[in-house]
Amino acid sequence: MYEMTLGLEIHCELKTESKIFCGCRNEFGGEPNTHCCPVCSGFPGVMPVLNEKAVEYTVRTGLALNCEISRYSKWDRKNYFYPDLPKAWQTSQYDLPLCKGGFVEYELDGKIKTVRINRIHLEEDAGKLLHEGGVSRIDYNRSGVPLMEIVTEPDLHSEAEAVAFLDGLKSVLKYIGVSDVKMQEGSLRCDVNLSVAKPGQKLGTRTETKNLNSFSAVKRSILFEYDRQCGVLNAGGTITQETRRWDDNKSVGYSMRGKEDAHDYRYFPEPDLMPVVLSGEKIEEIRKAIPRLKKERIAIYTEKLGLPLYDARILTADKDIADLFEGTAAVFKNPKKASNYIMSEIMRKGKREGSEDVEIGVSPAALAEILTLIDSGVISLAASKDVLDAVWNGAESPLAAVERLGLRQNSDSGELESAVKEVIAANASAAEQYKAGNQKVAAFLVGQVMKATKGKSNPKLVGELIEKLLKTN
Ligand code: ZN
Ligand code: MN
Repeated sequence: MYEMTLGLEIHCELKTESKIFCGCRNEFGGEPNTHCCPVCSGFPGVMPVLNEKAVEYTVRTGLALNCEISRYSKWDRKNYFYPDLPKAWQTSQYDLPLCKGGFVEYELDGKIKTVRINRIHLEEDAGKLLHEGGVSRIDYNRSGVPLMEIVTEPDLHSEAEAVAFLDGLKSVLKYIGVSDVKMQEGSLRCDVNLSVAKPGQKLGTRTETKNLNSFSAVKRSILFEYDRQCGVLNAGGTITQETRRWDDNKSVGYSMRGKEDAHDYRYFPEPDLMPVVLSGEKIEEIRKAIPRLKKERIAIYTEKLGLPLYDARILTADKDIADLFEGTAAVFKNPKKASNYIMSEIMRKGKREGSEDVEIGVSPAALAEILTLIDSGVISLAASKDVLDAVWNGAESPLAAVERLGLRQNSDSGELESAVKEVIAANASAAEQYKAGNQKVAAFLVGQVMKATKGKSNPKLVGELIEKLLKTN
């Protein structure tokens, strides 16, 4: 039986306003080749100007991942010829990266595990090749987008560990605000280095599978490559060091090319850019600006807001959810009710098909208003779902939606009393059971009244009326 060893290289696009060496907009999508200029299109003779925000974000990441920050780092040209790279070199960092060492903690099956980070460097993204109908086209909108590369040590030993680690890393990157980490849009991409060996023996030859863009692809490609390498070795063969491609639709990996070694890229120092020199004060200034991470937020939710640990962990799994919760709880002063509603309604509604991400379409202020409307009995919980649908990604206020949709619940006790009486008359045997002391049928009767009044009654009031009517009869 072979044991697998995995090391990951994660490419993460930074969420800066402009590209790394020019003023072009850094934004996903857009008409092809509309966010381009002579610099990011690789015209001869142009000069790059460094975007300091990209350096700051990389240092912020290094600090959050416990790295040593280099006071002095420099740029290098990584030369290769491929149409997505207009200059025929990628401006990257070779021997002096911005961050070295470090580690990430992640959780798997309730245990805290650690992956060591080897280095984090900054480089520029390449353009995107589009192959359609036998024609290939190139979109350079992505060319020159700041790209941070995080390289781990080979500390992972299963597909489950790889995915749990990636999930933990993704969460940190989103919390510190350096990237939107949307795997389906390519702002987070993962290369997997994998080798197998019998326990106790030295590491085998590794292969690298490139550009995996979902947790599912990472998992399946690892299992595929592990089986493939075991098969080769069991048949008496040897593993070739190579770069591989993953076909996600077919769930199959292919050999792409023999693995390049560093010398194949003819790295040399970039003559058009000054080295990056960071003072201790500057690094401290960046450290102070790191937003609160998951751990701290869990502590605040459980200790200050009185939430169960279970809630705190679910709410902090995604920064957008955590921000929504905090904003809502700042206005609506019942954190547990806010938590319950977010964990049920908001997370269900925000879940996107085939994606790990949650999309939030409601502001903290609007959510606090909805919760207040439920709490004060203006709308029922059931009706709040229609209100949520109405205000999701829109400009209408919850109260306006309640009025427009006629969702105000019936709190007129005279009208409600006649509805309750009708239900009791129509369900005589249930009413008898209730009178005989079977409290459980109360919920059934309340349900019948809610149904008869199309969900517009206040269930608490209905319960009180049933009790009153059946006790005095
Ligand atoms: Zn440009
Ligand atoms: Mn790279």
